[in-house]
Amino acid sequence: MADLVIRNIGQIVTGDLAQPLADGDTLVIRGGRIAAIGHAAAVDASGIERVVDANGADVWPGLIDSHTHPVLGDFTPRQLMINFIESGLHGGVTRIISAGEVHLPGRPRDPLGTRALAIVAAKSWAAHRPGGVKVLGGSVILEPGLVEADFDELQRGGVRVVGEVGLSGIYRPADARPMVEWAQARGMVVMMHIGGASIPGSNGLGAAEALAIGPDIASHTNGGPTAAPLRDIERLIAESTMAIEVVQAGNTRRVGEIARLVARAGALGRMIIGTDTPSGTGVIPLGVLRTMAWVASLGDIDPALVVALATGNTARIYGLDEGRIACGAAADCIIADAPVGSEARDARATLALGDTPAVAAVVIDGVVRIAGSRNTPAPQRRAGIPWMAAAGH
Ligand SMILES: [Zn+2]
Repeated sequence: MADLVIRNIGQIVTGDLAQPLADGDTLVIRGGRIAAIGHAAAVDASGIERVVDANGADVWPGLIDSHTHPVLGDFTPRQLMINFIESGLHGGVTRIISAGEVHLPGRPRDPLGTRALAIVAAKSWAAHRPGGVKVLGGSVILEPGLVEADFDELQRGGVRVVGEVGLSGIYRPADARPMVEWAQARGMVVMMHIGGASIPGSNGLGAAEALAIGPDIASHTNGGPTAAPLRDIERLIAESTMAIEVVQAGNTRRVGEIARLVARAGALGRMIIGTDTPSGTGVIPLGVLRTMAWVASLGDIDPALVVALATGNTARIYGLDEGRIACGAAADCIIADAPVGSEARDARATLALGDTPAVAAVVIDGVVRIAGSRNTPAPQRRAGIPWMAAAGH
């Protein structure tokens, strides 16, 4: 676990909706955790050899993609592509959350195979971090025949998430509700597919089904890829406490409409951002950054708040110890800036314009994983990281 100092920060964005900006230009990391935040003269950075110069750019928490479909390793059978997770690192993503390993070729659908797949994936992802990216995987897909004792075994096997309800053989409220309650009683977070059918074999689901089934997260409310009627989203906002997710691989216009509805209801604390990739839509390494730009520009939401939707909100809902620039949190953060050629002058103004910010560096557990990015445009202000060769630009 590493020690690191990041100095000359233009603006620290915290990932906390209640206090989205922090005062200061310096971040001190000890043992992979944030130890101090403040002005250079006021913080103790003694004994730390590695110093990153942010050169006036923003520091944000590392982005958390709340909706992905990995299988095992950094390979997606859906698009026959490798290294999609490590490619997302170059888009500022330090954590991905599996919405179910549904793309496994020959995925078992019997209770024994369903349990086994979730437990193998949970254990594999707990031990494997492509490029350093953290993966919360092994998200069980509900199938007919599961009984309450299966959820005890899933819990013992490290399964913490129920992947999208509705992607499988369990989607009617009478079948799904008991399983969802068994999972939630064991501390699992439950996602549910909202909107039209996605891959063959999945189902179209709306507010009536979600309110009857009771998941924790209304997944891809702007469609994965086909959006539900806006009236359904209004009902979920008003009649439940579910998290409201928007994704890259959905309806673009609906992202702005949903963001306005959520903001008007004073419910931004419930909104989270993901990609819903890999999927039929593809692999989109800049998908979280691009969705943030849609929320900010089409939804007219303050970009400093939008950062929290892709970091602190998701971390809180999943009980993760990252996603905030706060003392004691895991030191997962990015240096972000306006890209070369943008009329914006910093990363937040870039989001407000609807442009994609540039990633200048990514840090996970206090270790600089990349200097520069091979996937975003170059930043207007490059980070000074003398011990690393710059990627991409
Ligand atoms: Zn879905």
